[in-house]
Amino acid sequence: MPELPEVEVTRRRLEPELVGRNFTEVVLRVTKLRLPVPVELARILPGLAVRGIERRGKYLLFDCGHGWLLIHLGMTGFLRLLRSSTPPGKHDHLDFIFDGGQLLRFHDPRKFGIVTWFTGDPQEHPLLVNIGPEPLTDAFTGEYLFTATRKRNGALKQLIMDSSVVAGVGNIYANEALFHSGIRPDRGAGTLTVQECTLLASVIRTVLEESIGEGSTCRVAEDTVAYYPQNFTVYGRGGEQCSSCGSRLEEIRLGNRSTVFCRICQV
Ligand SMILES: [Zn+2]
Repeated sequence: MPELPEVEVTRRRLEPELVGRNFTEVVLRVTKLRLPVPVELARILPGLAVRGIERRGKYLLFDCGHGWLLIHLGMTGFLRLLRSSTPPGKHDHLDFIFDGGQLLRFHDPRKFGIVTWFTGDPQEHPLLVNIGPEPLTDAFTGEYLFTATRKRNGALKQLIMDSSVVAGVGNIYANEALFHSGIRPDRGAGTLTVQECTLLASVIRTVLEESIGEGSTCRVAEDTVAYYPQNFTVYGRGGEQCSSCGSRLEEIRLGNRSTVFCRICQV
């Protein structure tokens, strides 16, 4: 499932290829993903140029001058860059064709993605307006996290996965960041100290940056249409040995999501 690093890696992959290019044609093979896909895209986009590609949480925002193309990859969404002559396969729901023969193809077996159009300030879009600070910006600090966790009795992991608290920290990176911070995922969020909040905010940022950056744990393989997150310390390793102390990693469900931690290393 694409999380913030996969979306950011996608953005960085597409930006140099598509900025400055004009849409020439849009082919819609579905009318609905998680939300209806506006059929007018086929009329609106041709002739418009991509001015930039931004990201907010897990949303990609294509600045088209007169409006914004918003894309969320959902559970299984994938954007591929191909030659415009490439025939579509199964689950290839939308094609955006550009001058120069580039084709941006949206593939999504589970159809949980979102493709929509917005003409106002994208930060005001109903899907984006309540998203919390970006974890890779200076707005996400220990003090912010400390304030956000006060009087919150729920499990800490669920709080940091709440996009209204912080944008885009999904299940994988929440598990990883809590392990590297030495804090149990089922701790009551309100029990965190200022020092723990400062450490956790910094570790969340590092874990995400390392995943996005050079030597990334997040690889994109266009030929098989897949993300390859790998080398996680705890995620997906329930029952295995803790890499730090050697004891058995515990796996529990929190908010119905797989949660792995070490009872010795995390308090
Ligand atoms: Zn351990």
